[in-house]
Amino acid sequence: MARRWRFAGSYPEVKLKCRICGSKAEVHLRSHNIALCREDFVKFFERRLLRTVRRFRMFGHQDRVLVAVSGGKDSLGLLHALKKLGYKVAGYHIYLDIDGYSERSLERVEAFARMEEVEIRVEGVEEALGCTIVEASEKLRRPICSLCGTVKRYLMNRAAEEFDVLATGHNLDDEAATLLGNLLHWQEGYLERQGPVLKEGDGFRRKVKPLSFTAEYETAVYAFLEGIDYIVEECPYARGATSIFYKDVLGRIEEKMPGTKIRFLGGFYKFRGEHLKPMDVPLRLCTMCGYPTTGEVCNFCKLKERLNSRTTESEQYISKK
Ligand code: SF4
Ligand SMILES: [Zn+2]
Ligand SMILES: [Zn+2]
Repeated sequence: MARRWRFAGSYPEVKLKCRICGSKAEVHLRSHNIALCREDFVKFFERRLLRTVRRFRMFGHQDRVLVAVSGGKDSLGLLHALKKLGYKVAGYHIYLDIDGYSERSLERVEAFARMEEVEIRVEGVEEALGCTIVEASEKLRRPICSLCGTVKRYLMNRAAEEFDVLATGHNLDDEAATLLGNLLHWQEGYLERQGPVLKEGDGFRRKVKPLSFTAEYETAVYAFLEGIDYIVEECPYARGATSIFYKDVLGRIEEKMPGTKIRFLGGFYKFRGEHLKPMDVPLRLCTMCGYPTTGEVCNFCKLKERLNSRTTESEQYISKK
């Protein structure tokens, strides 16, 4: 679903001046109660990104950062900004093979890599899993998004092995919606782990979300102003997702009370740091692929096994007929 983003300039009655230079403002950030011209907004965006990276000690200029990119504004904007700020970055894209959406996403990712002269590795789910996500969901009669999450997590962790850190483009709206869902359903385990940094350990690389304090509106404006050609449409399976409903609810609260989302998430991170300690779950190596897991076999290998046994069962059924 394409969203329309509002620029201050699109309201004839709003005559705002840039807080920094006094020229005509084009971006009005109600949550920060400031209006900025294009140039100062770009600087503001990049400064806050840098501040978040430093405050949470996400990575330094000596680290190699792998940025997971979907082709959307957040992840491409993040890769672009980190490169501009002088970090050693590369991109990683998972080709999901979903209807025409995946082709269009890949086109954007490849065009971005050429234009920005940045390395972006592409990995297909079919080669890794033996079938596409849609086929897996049909064969196992399981919701596509839960399978997709398992596969993407596994592939991203594996791809990050050669790097120091894995960065994703989750923004303030994503994180606030996740927090709302975790609180409504009182998911204690998820609450303990929800943060801008997930520490490395037991074979996993550190995972970071440098846009945790940047609203979706701001990443859209940044991508537009920086000339990034991103995919606007969302995955067709995202329609009706609970997270989108939570985002809409929070969006309505934000309209009435600007700044609520940032206070909600920022307050939680502070509380979590002081009162919640993620439980140390002992990990061992998957007996099939050798990757870290809590059980004997990791979820990805279990999934592959189930798909193989389904294929064998249907082959036997056909040969009996
Ligand atoms: S919405 Fe699409 S990309 Fe996201 S988890 Fe579901 S299938 Fe995967
Ligand atoms: Zn200005
Ligand atoms: Zn495994």
